[in-house]
Amino acid sequence: MHQRGGAPWVRSRATIYVSGVAGPVHVKIFRVPNCLFCGIAAADIPATIVSSNARTIAFRDINPQAPVHILVIPREHYANVAELAAAGDRVLADLVAHAHEVAVAEGIADAGYRVIFNTGSDAGQTVAHVHAHVLGGRPMTWPPG
Ligand code: AMP
Ligand code: ZN
Repeated sequence: MHQRGGAPWVRSRATIYVSGVAGPVHVKIFRVPNCLFCGIAAADIPATIVSSNARTIAFRDINPQAPVHILVIPREHYANVAELAAAGDRVLADLVAHAHEVAVAEGIADAGYRVIFNTGSDAGQTVAHVHAHVLGGRPMTWPPG
């Protein structure tokens, strides 16, 4: 239990084991207080989930920038894609694989789609829980704005 600005808050950490084809998958749940996407991962904050598995969750962006605009997040909290990459444990690979599954399920994989990790303020990152934007369903311009 920690005290911040007078209000008590709790860092919760738990470990669960989920069966996988290659044996049990070790999943750490590390929830950061006041993190919007930790709240969605915990199902405390509603979202339109399109698919999920033991490690990652895909849900529709609340302010879509293309006919298909889905966010894919790890259940565990990492601030950005660099932190996620540094964590190892193949979670980044799982996240990108889930992004591709979403593109296939939405019917945009053949025409093409974008996977974007906004990282830091110049890139426009507004939620500090790493998320892949999966965008498609229309032709995209380059360079991005
Ligand atoms: P970024 O600006 O790269 O950090 O992306 C954050 C994204 O989260 C934006 O595209 C927002 O529209 C989206 N977003 C914010 N709140 C929600 C929410 N409650 N449910 C779904 N998407 C959200
Ligand atoms: Zn979080």
